[in-house]
Amino acid sequence: MTETIKGIVLRETAVGDYDKIMTVLTADHGKLSVFARGAKRLKSPLFTATQIFSYSEMTIYRSSNHYYLRTADLIENFYRMRDYLEGSALAGYIADVAADISVENQDATELLRLVLNCFHAISQRIRPPAQIKGVFELRASSIAGFMPNLVACAGCGNSDLEIYYFDVTDGIFRCEECYRTDALIAEKLAQRQSEPDAIYQTGTVIALLSPSVFAAMRFSIYSRAQRIFSFELKDHQTLMDFAKVAENYLLCHLEKNYSTLEFYHTVSEVPKSVK
Ligand SMILES: [Zn+2]
Repeated sequence: MTETIKGIVLRETAVGDYDKIMTVLTADHGKLSVFARGAKRLKSPLFTATQIFSYSEMTIYRSSNHYYLRTADLIENFYRMRDYLEGSALAGYIADVAADISVENQDATELLRLVLNCFHAISQRIRPPAQIKGVFELRASSIAGFMPNLVACAGCGNSDLEIYYFDVTDGIFRCEECYRTDALIAEKLAQRQSEPDAIYQTGTVIALLSPSVFAAMRFSIYSRAQRIFSFELKDHQTLMDFAKVAENYLLCHLEKNYSTLEFYHTVSEVPKSVK
């Protein structure tokens, strides 16, 4: 039985000279592994619509627990992402994380929309790559079940602060007073010093954030899907701090390292860490 799906090609693995297996993210079925026979032939009608990062309508059929591609029509290929290395490197990282946090036969409507929005933003250069990346990381973490609580101080409930003590590991924040009087934090910091954790090599347990960084985080998490890139970070340091805390947050909660992220940093015009 054939089925029509719309999905984005997140990964591709060559099989022999002409075939490939694609990892396709769909709204209704989550992540699917689809075998595309002959798709690597330049003259194949499947060639264009099965390129990595392509969003396509596909007809697939299932046979003995595998999906096979029958037809594919390109909807959008975001080709302008390839115009700059930082853009294509970021797309590679986003595809990698999306493939990692999605599962087969589980609705992925929100994740698919997020990836499409990010690819659109990269190809149209709507915002700096560092900002697109940060928004993606915070929202992807939330979709994966690690939504931080950025509403109010975990101690006293204050929400508007001059400085935010964001607890990366717990996804909560405190005001300065609650931070200084919380014995558990002192303990946690002391523990981390004696037992350095690989995840924290690029990160921090408690990040001190300015109101503008924190506002950007709140916007990234709580705004509607179609508005995620409608804020601007005019100050360079704010952008850097936002990018750094978002990355730390995602890596801390997914407990992974991504080679595509390393590659992004090597080609990024933005320094990896700004003190
Ligand atoms: Zn407080």
